[in-house]
Amino acid sequence: MNEVCALCGKDIGHNDAYCRHCGAKKGQGVRWYHKTWGIIILLFLVLGPLAIPLLWRSPVIPRERKLLLTMLCLAFTSLLGWMLIQTYLGIINEITGSMNHYRKL
Ligand SMILES: [Zn+2]
Repeated sequence: MNEVCALCGKDIGHNDAYCRHCGAKKGQGVRWYHKTWGIIILLFLVLGPLAIPLLWRSPVIPRERKLLLTMLCLAFTSLLGWMLIQTYLGIINEITGSMNHYRKL
């Protein structure tokens, strides 16, 4: 997988220390929330899907990885949403069940 220059956004070879397009040093001036691990923490532990625009603004994460992380984050969010709904429905069932139980007494 190719890396991308933080300054000009063009591909950098894996073994290059400097960008061959603009000469910027690799990894220079990249903020933590633009790096893959910072983004992953924000996506899955802090902001959820709200961190997706931040992910796409990152100049150092390659496009394929952005797509992959976006899909993972959306899948993770819908899973959480589904679990929340199931829990909610379970509680509603519990309540109506016990209400019916007392109505019979
Ligand atoms: Zn560059």
